[in-house]
Amino acid sequence: MQCIKDLTLEEITNYVVELGYEKFRARQIWYAIYSQRINDFEKISTLPKELRLRLKKDFYINAIVDCKKEQSIDGTVKFLFLLRNGSAVESVYIPWDRGLKERKTLCVSSQVGCALGCSFCATGKLGLKRNLSAGEIIDQIFECEKLLGIKLTNIVFMGMGEPLQNYKNVVNALKILTDEEIKLFSRKNITVSTSGIVPKIYELANLERPVKLAVSLHSTFDVLREKLMPIAKRWSLKELRDAVVFYYRKTKIPITYEYILFEGLNDNQDELRRLVKFARTVPSKVNLIPFHRIDFVKLNDFERQLNPANKEKIEEFRNMLRSEGIRCFVRSSSGYEINGACGQLAFANIKLNI
Ligand code: SAH
Ligand code: SF4
Repeated sequence: MQCIKDLTLEEITNYVVELGYEKFRARQIWYAIYSQRINDFEKISTLPKELRLRLKKDFYINAIVDCKKEQSIDGTVKFLFLLRNGSAVESVYIPWDRGLKERKTLCVSSQVGCALGCSFCATGKLGLKRNLSAGEIIDQIFECEKLLGIKLTNIVFMGMGEPLQNYKNVVNALKILTDEEIKLFSRKNITVSTSGIVPKIYELANLERPVKLAVSLHSTFDVLREKLMPIAKRWSLKELRDAVVFYYRKTKIPITYEYILFEGLNDNQDELRRLVKFARTVPSKVNLIPFHRIDFVKLNDFERQLNPANKEKIEEFRNMLRSEGIRCFVRSSSGYEINGACGQLAFANIKLNI
């Protein structure tokens, strides 16, 4: 049995046509699942009875079977979702309210664990357990909306895993999320964050409805970047920059660079000068991220020495970037005390016995 949400509209169309039904049946299924959020094939009243029964035999609708949630005082909610095969993933809901501007963002996971082992990231310490299917990605969103009784406005692929290492399923999920008929999200409100899987950045640029790209930079020197992010050994900063330029030229969507500030490591003037140059290549903005400690996992000597830059230093860095004309923001540490902030997702606080 497969989750129906793992299928693209074309795949559902092929399925119904093979069974001898007309093409428009696929759209009816699509509409029932994504617009009406129907959870039981038998309740899709627009379909003939035999097709409903056949669907029920071949597919299930919900990929998530259970959930535990933990709320932080700042409004952030961390979910632990249990998947059908027994594994689990975390997603983090981050509300943001500035008067007229209100955002309800879900940070979704794309893999259980991650193979890339960045030295500052708790998820990387788990290794890769498995890729998530498109349905498992979509259902993090649907479950969050259902459990909190809200409509999310933004989706960021910044939870567990490297989305571009699970390319096909992530792209299938993006196609569903940006589908023009069911209109779940505007593509401008979806961000895929990558540690820099260069060939896949080129591919992603060619999507029919491209989304925002965030690139985890963290250093403008190859040597340091390689120490922080082993994947940087595979593609140099120059190769990464070329891919980013291509992405911007093709999509016309400004790039976001993510930069964790580590005390005494990447918070110096040399880095700043080079970061300004890098960020100027194409229209972009820089998000400075406070380093969130991950002392709750086993660390080596280099990793133990990573320290967050202090608040003043982060503000100074931000101001200097701004004075050079670079758009720059400091990301909040929402959910820090529930280990729900960036990089802390590793089932640290919640036991799996749900
Ligand atoms: N794999 C993707 C997306 C998931 S990580 C990527 O690496 O971009 C999302 C963001 O959290 C990345 O920018 C990542 O560098 C950052 N991050 C990871 N661990 C962190 C930590 N301990 N403190 C702060 N940010 C962290
Ligand atoms: Fe994987 Fe991203 Fe964590 Fe690196 S920072 S280990 S790529 S999830």
